[in-house]
Amino acid sequence: MSKDWQKRTQLVHEGSRRSQYGEMAEAIFLTQGFAYDSAEQAEARFIKAGDDEFIYARYGNPTTRMFEDRIAAIEGTEDAFATASGMAAVNGALVSMLKAGDHVVSARALFGSCLYILEEVLTRYGVKVTFVDGADLDQWKAGVVPGVKAVFFESISNPTLELIDIEAVSKIAHAVGALVIVDNVFATPIFSRAVDQGADVVVYSTTKHIDGQGRALGGVICGTRDFIRKVAEPYLKHTGAAMSPFTAWIMLNGMVTLDLRCRAMAETAAKMAVALEGHPALTKVIYPGLPSHPQADLAARQIGSGGTMVSFDIKGGKDAAFRFMNALKIIKISNNLGDAKTIATHPTTTTHQRLTDAQRAGLGITPGLIRLSLGLEDAGDLIADVKAALSVI
Ligand SMILES: *Cc1c(COP(=O)(O)O)cnc(C)c1O
Repeated sequence: MSKDWQKRTQLVHEGSRRSQYGEMAEAIFLTQGFAYDSAEQAEARFIKAGDDEFIYARYGNPTTRMFEDRIAAIEGTEDAFATASGMAAVNGALVSMLKAGDHVVSARALFGSCLYILEEVLTRYGVKVTFVDGADLDQWKAGVVPGVKAVFFESISNPTLELIDIEAVSKIAHAVGALVIVDNVFATPIFSRAVDQGADVVVYSTTKHIDGQGRALGGVICGTRDFIRKVAEPYLKHTGAAMSPFTAWIMLNGMVTLDLRCRAMAETAAKMAVALEGHPALTKVIYPGLPSHPQADLAARQIGSGGTMVSFDIKGGKDAAFRFMNALKIIKISNNLGDAKTIATHPTTTTHQRLTDAQRAGLGITPGLIRLSLGLEDAGDLIADVKAALSVI
């Protein structure tokens, strides 16, 4: 495929492989294994499998490989490894490269399961983990001491939409030789320029925007060929986090419309944020594309967009937030994001329920906070839905 292609072209064609039938749509190779022409060929393939040679679907599969090639091209990395879920990707990226005695520095504001891996799993195996406030570069400078093996952070935090400066943190990490691993879900592969900005490894939950229709769990690790094939793959292929070929086919098809969807969602998110800012029922509206966002400049520089998510705090706390959600007509109450259907989430009682009140307060997750993942419906309809529900409380 061509390096000169723009993302929109790559999203449609990159990575496609055709069988002898020349099928237009990517085929689902729903096969666990592959037959060899001879015993010698089997032996040779186990010694070293070539680019289009497969052994076992836990190691790789033609449909999965098409997806990996497509996402690697979009992200601008040499290679990628697809996994069964976003968490398998986060776990795989970290565990595959770390051993007892290693030291990791991580942002504190993390998706609950990411926090579990860093706080519970890694430490159980003797990895030292230091948490910092991700937006505070002085804390990164103080925390990333010589000997640190990796830094980990979500480039836009959930649900308070705080950005972490990938370029600045990467400089600090690279100065001590630490690998920069970024969970980039909220930025989306469309708005991401994480690799240009210094990220070494970029991880996605493909469950979110890449599928984009709430159908399948998936994840992917993007990185250099050395990291993917020599570090991540040995761990992943032996521990069984492989993406199913059927899921890879869903993700491949999701990517065809990914650019159109992310841009439409971000446009609607911006309209929603503008429509809600200053609303008397709200104490604040958080959207990185609003000039009032404290990191609006960083958002413009880092992702060139405000993204597809808007959060806002409803006056009156949990009761008012529940009344608002229950009055919504179009917008669904759920906890996925990046879906074609707009979703409202109440982090305090769902995604961040396990945290203590003090932890939530520290992360800015107030009882009245609502996280909206903007979908593909008409922006006017969505704004009317939110305004009508706000008028009920
Ligand atoms: C959803 C999500 C994950 C986990 O992905 P799954 O596909 O649900 O395993 C990890 N990180 C972030 C930021 C997410 O939003």
